[in-house]
Amino acid sequence: MTRVFAVLSVCLLGVLMTVTTPAQSVSPQAKNLQSSSIVIDTHDDTTQRLLDAHFDITARHSDGNIDVPRMREGGLTAIFFSIWIPGKTTGPEAVKRALDQIDAVRETVRKHPHELVLATSADDVRAAKRQSKIAALMGVEGGHMMGNDLSVLRTFAALGVRYMTLTHMENTEWADSSTAKPEHNGLTDFGKDVVREMNRLGMIVDVSHVSDKTFYDVLAASKAPVFASHSSCRSICNAARNMTDDMIRDLAKNGGVIQINYHVGFLSQEFRDYEAAHPEAEKEIKAEVDKHCGSDEGCKLTAGDHIVREMMQAGKLPKVDWTSIVEHIDHAVKIAGVDHVGLGSDFDGAVMPLGMDDVTHIPQITDGLLKKGYSESDVGKILGENTLRVLSEVQRVSQDLNK
Ligand SMILES: [Zn+2]
Repeated sequence: MTRVFAVLSVCLLGVLMTVTTPAQSVSPQAKNLQSSSIVIDTHDDTTQRLLDAHFDITARHSDGNIDVPRMREGGLTAIFFSIWIPGKTTGPEAVKRALDQIDAVRETVRKHPHELVLATSADDVRAAKRQSKIAALMGVEGGHMMGNDLSVLRTFAALGVRYMTLTHMENTEWADSSTAKPEHNGLTDFGKDVVREMNRLGMIVDVSHVSDKTFYDVLAASKAPVFASHSSCRSICNAARNMTDDMIRDLAKNGGVIQINYHVGFLSQEFRDYEAAHPEAEKEIKAEVDKHCGSDEGCKLTAGDHIVREMMQAGKLPKVDWTSIVEHIDHAVKIAGVDHVGLGSDFDGAVMPLGMDDVTHIPQITDGLLKKGYSESDVGKILGENTLRVLSEVQRVSQDLNK
């Protein structure tokens, strides 16, 4: 991958300034199913916006992918807010910044008790649905934020964090990432201790971003099901961040779930091939971004997302359509079975495919699966029931381990 594209696909800061197009109309059956189902998104980078005191999540915004009015319109029951800082930041600073983001999520929930409720279990999510509130959950995206200290991991759990992705794009001191040169041959002994402590604490071990060897070391070490909070299928789009068919099968045997990521660079091989073959496209994007943002780094990421989508729309980059999300889901179901696939959008942190401008568009996925012949009960599993099962099972294992 080339540089700007690489930056755009790391699942980070950006808030899309997308010119939103209205969601496609869906069948009454899909609409009903969406509103009666538990719908969970296991990976959203909206937390970066919560750090801005002026951002009101209860107001409808014309930029970004997520806010309360649009989550309601899209029928989302539960959102995992991602706690993320770059993998190069480590030590006490990383811990501090992670705690600041956890505080931002908790404060957002506290200030909006009619719209949001903090959730840490499957029961909490079901209760939120009954009360017509949106369940807010948290996942720490990158083991670098625990500062090599199990007491910090325990603090994360106590504050309500329910998963930790073991690495981001860089290796930690105890686990290899899929996008860095291997240093540890997977998990170190301490890395295995981290997995075991997460099992005891009732935190889901998230295998998105980790190397294939780390993934297999996790499966061997974990006593509870694990999940990939935001990964797609490598046999359709050959990104190291995606999962091979063998990995998807083995994840299913462990009882886990692959949550499909909507980022264009993880969905489309054509898009990736174009990136590799056209370094000049990167230059064009960079020039546009610099013109728009000057030296404002936050703005650069935001503008990058916007520009890539505009270029797709204008035919300057391969067009990646929202239906490719359904294609990845369907592939993963064929490999793993319908009990092991879910949704991990990467909203507010990636480049969304055309037609998936924001969370109001997610009923299209339900409609697309019904049109493919999926039963309502199977669609319900993909929308959220599979994730609830993992949450419950991880909690049960934790209770056993604490006996
Ligand atoms: Zn990510």
